Amino acid sequence: MVEFRGVSKVYQGQAAAVENLNLNVETGKITVFVGPSGCGKTTSLRMINRMVEPTSGTITVGGRDVGTIPAHELRRSMGYVMQHAGLLPHRTVIDNVSTVLRLNKVPRAQARTRSLELLETVGLSAAMASRYPNQLSGGQQQRVGVARALAADPPVLLMDEPFSAVDPVVRAELQQELLRLQRELAKTIIFVTHDIDEATLLGDRVAVFATGGRIAQYAPPEEILRAPLDSFVANFVGRDRGFRHLAFSTADSVPIHPSNGVVWDADALRNNAVAAAGWVLAVNADNYPLGWLAPGTHPGSRAAGPHTPELIPGGSLFQTGDSLRNALDAALSSPSGLGVAVDADGRVRGLVRAPEVLAAIDAAREGRP
Ligand code: ADP
Ligand code: MG
Repeated sequence: MVEFRGVSKVYQGQAAAVENLNLNVETGKITVFVGPSGCGKTTSLRMINRMVEPTSGTITVGGRDVGTIPAHELRRSMGYVMQHAGLLPHRTVIDNVSTVLRLNKVPRAQARTRSLELLETVGLSAAMASRYPNQLSGGQQQRVGVARALAADPPVLLMDEPFSAVDPVVRAELQQELLRLQRELAKTIIFVTHDIDEATLLGDRVAVFATGGRIAQYAPPEEILRAPLDSFVANFVGRDRGFRHLAFSTADSVPIHPSNGVVWDADALRNNAVAAAGWVLAVNADNYPLGWLAPGTHPGSRAAGPHTPELIPGGSLFQTGDSLRNALDAALSSPSGLGVAVDADGRVRGLVRAPEVLAAIDAAREGRP
């Protein structure tokens, strides 16, 4: 879809920012450019829509040499999202989203309807439409930026560190939203980040950039974590890559043990219904996990005394279909050492144990079922 053929960029009086870049970006997939700061990711991205002109080489989009397409036309045919949403401060949210539509001569009422739909698509309520950008949080502004980029329904979306400036919780939310959107829209997305975790989470393919706009490796994320091509990639991918690689293996073979869960309600407390030794999982009447009771603190045990025992917050949950990474994390992050497995609705299915997750990892490595 987007092809770089021998593309170089030399800014005046400097070493090459990008040198002889050859890359083929797949249609309908997310391709991530990742690498340390200053290695030419933004330059490469901006050459696609001619915000930066290459010094030599050719870039084609859908087979057309972008150098032959007028820059303003090209930019309108591609969505562009950057780190700070870059919204026009004196225009309302809806006007920001409608701008490209109006430039494309879409009638005002129609542009408005479409923009409201887009805001909904990116998870913003219609109430946000009449606000100004500075009345939104950073995460909301980024959502508006994405809505604006999608306005003209462009086949190609260029995203330059769009989630880098928001806090980690919001970033994780935006990442999941992007994956959800992409399942519906199947755009050709080129996404720039310096964060290898973000790259491996979002990318169908990941291009690891090294200084001077050289591509050190271009492969699916699983392969980059499992088999970094050289020491540059290995160093960049970092120390936790063995753990992160587990994100690409399903945990279907990990045994799930019946939970000794107790329904944590007034009855349980009144009747001293909990008698088990060891950790006990508390659930509500619908079987959603609430937390853990430490050994010896159950109502009915001597140590409990007259006081209501406190629930200890649980660790991460392991959902049906999740990876070995999630399974292991659920077990390791649980105060009891037992990971809580839940179904798609969040109801408790049972418990997983770290040693059994490790056994499943070994079995997967050795190709055993
Ligand atoms: P990245 O996005 O990977 O951090 P950039 O593409 O922004 O990298 O920059 C690559 C190199 O080009 C850097 O050395 C940077 O200083 C230089 N550079 C980027 N933009 C310009 C510019 N407009 N003028 C001169 N040098 C630039
Ligand atoms: Mg950059």
